[in-house]
Amino acid sequence: MKYVFITGGVISSLGKGLTAAALGTLLENRGLKVALQKFDPYLNVDPGTMSPFQHGEVYVLDDGAETDLDLGHYERFTRTPLSRFNNLTSGQVYQSVLNKEREGKYLGKTVQVIPHVTDEIQERIRKISDTSDADVLITEIGGTTGDIEGLPFLEAIREFYLDVGPENVVFIHVTYVPFIKAAGELKTKPTQQSVAKLREIGIAPHLLVCRCEYPLDKELRRKISMFCNVPYEAVIEEKDVDHSIYEVPLMLERERLDELVCKYLHLDAQPAEMSEWQEIIRKLIAPQHRVRIGVVGKYIELQDAYKSVYEATIHGGVAHDCGVVFEKIEAEDIEKEGVDKMLQKLGGILVPGGFGERGTEGKVMAAQYARENGVPYLGLCLGMQIACIEFARNVLELEGAHSTEFDADTPHPVICLMDEQHKVTKKGGTMRLGSQPCNLKPGSKGEEIYGASEIQERHRHRYEFNTDYKERFEEAGLTFAGTSPDGGLMELIELNDHPFFMACQYHPEFKSKPDSAHPLFKAFIAAAHQSQHNKPIS
Ligand code: GLN
Repeated sequence: MKYVFITGGVISSLGKGLTAAALGTLLENRGLKVALQKFDPYLNVDPGTMSPFQHGEVYVLDDGAETDLDLGHYERFTRTPLSRFNNLTSGQVYQSVLNKEREGKYLGKTVQVIPHVTDEIQERIRKISDTSDADVLITEIGGTTGDIEGLPFLEAIREFYLDVGPENVVFIHVTYVPFIKAAGELKTKPTQQSVAKLREIGIAPHLLVCRCEYPLDKELRRKISMFCNVPYEAVIEEKDVDHSIYEVPLMLERERLDELVCKYLHLDAQPAEMSEWQEIIRKLIAPQHRVRIGVVGKYIELQDAYKSVYEATIHGGVAHDCGVVFEKIEAEDIEKEGVDKMLQKLGGILVPGGFGERGTEGKVMAAQYARENGVPYLGLCLGMQIACIEFARNVLELEGAHSTEFDADTPHPVICLMDEQHKVTKKGGTMRLGSQPCNLKPGSKGEEIYGASEIQERHRHRYEFNTDYKERFEEAGLTFAGTSPDGGLMELIELNDHPFFMACQYHPEFKSKPDSAHPLFKAFIAAAHQSQHNKPIS
């Protein structure tokens, strides 16, 4: 196996994850098998307990691991299988080291960062290489060079490099080349200093991926090459993309990143076959149709909080050559401004997952508006619970119906805590998580959309639909189209007399890809495009 390590310098949010994923795309399209993993230096055991304000979306894998959102990029850009072993945090490293110490496994030795913590990190690299048949393992190190928490990871990959030999490792450093307006110039000093910092630790990067807002000219590339001690060809420009993150692989291919990685790793691989990818980009840049989708949420101002939801919706658009114009709507604003003002131009309304009470009434208003006005609605997790609360209150006239998450004393707890959750006291990793089977009702829209009667979808929730109310919902025109195989958990609902009103307890957004949109998103965009018909888009 060959190894690529991707570090980041100067500032955070440089898109290391995207760079790693895009390199994965290019190598796969050269016919190589790729594995990807992410190291996160923070001390949380996983991001599952972090607020979206701190961390953005929590991405869930089939095995129920709550991971960093970069793993979402890995799954969307490549075919690599991922499990909980593909995301390692300092929290996990220390937890394991301390457990071993308590078990007496260090045989009386003093437990130290070097070698015990660094060995633990290397073990994880070896675990992937031992269990995967990939040709190349791409490991992304989170954080920025110079962070205290990141040091053991950098030391670990330095030692690993010595161990497996220079012909098997490429270090890529993603850095920033800022444009200073007053000087009218791009500046290389931060990159020089960041590389100097890495070299101090003992890592000399082979390739520099330079994030920039303006192109790097020859002189600048020469300067970076000389001061950072890399060949001229190894200075790779990664300019901000104009339209879509899916352009990144093509941009890096033009800069020959994949070619250089193969050259440095002595990998004999054909050039990347990117024609299908190019067709996706064509549909993203110049779609034949357009649709306006309102996403009604609570963390709307955060770009990363609903990452996979936005991506899956865009994929649904790609499937119909239909560009998605997002209207990001703060649910609380609906409570203040009213539904008509906020929602009338939309082709479709999407209510994503969430926790906590703030904004729930605005979301209920959005669901009611969609139901009453025949506007396509897609509810995800909390978005399904909201749809049930709305239906209970306004169709079944169950006044005060709510979820016990938000109102413990509601007279009509149509959403309540799952039985298995009553005894749970710890917060981390204790929700109903990961891939779970779901049976679809014969003749339902859900079954038609999926073209299957049994599906597997990823979950992340504690509350569920209260089946005491099931019959009343059904009699009033709501179908439970998907349930757990024992029939106990309601997984997918749909309204009978509505063009498209569907909501699921699971998270379909985690299983969508640009070239194979998730069926629910694909069907949602088709319906939304129809409903956009007589509403002006701009
Ligand atoms: N808060 C809800 C629950 O725990 C919904 C979770 C979600 O949307 N992911 O069931």
